[in-house]
Amino acid sequence: MALKITDQCINCDVCEPVCPNTAIAPGREIYEIAPSSCTECVGHFDVPQCIEVCPVECIILDPQHPETPEELQAKYAALTGTESA
Ligand code: SF4
Ligand code: SF4
Repeated sequence: MALKITDQCINCDVCEPVCPNTAIAPGREIYEIAPSSCTECVGHFDVPQCIEVCPVECIILDPQHPETPEELQAKYAALTGTESA
């Protein structure tokens, strides 16, 4: 499941540089996560790095983008050009 940033975001810019998939960028009003690029950090880290660093805990699972662990692994493989495990 991709993650999403809620309107609690204070635009602190801490999450953008820690995303291994460059899925995070400033949006019109708050930071946004591109669902097509977010793997929940699968393939890179054990836990979502953006959630780890966000000071206001405004990054949540996005029920609009349900994905299994296998699908996240496949997305990681597609994004990085590596073989899926
Ligand atoms: Fe990027 Fe990982 Fe956060 Fe997804 S969970 S937006 S891949 S840092
Ligand atoms: Fe917004 Fe949290 Fe990212 Fe800061 S770390 S820009 S508050 S989502």
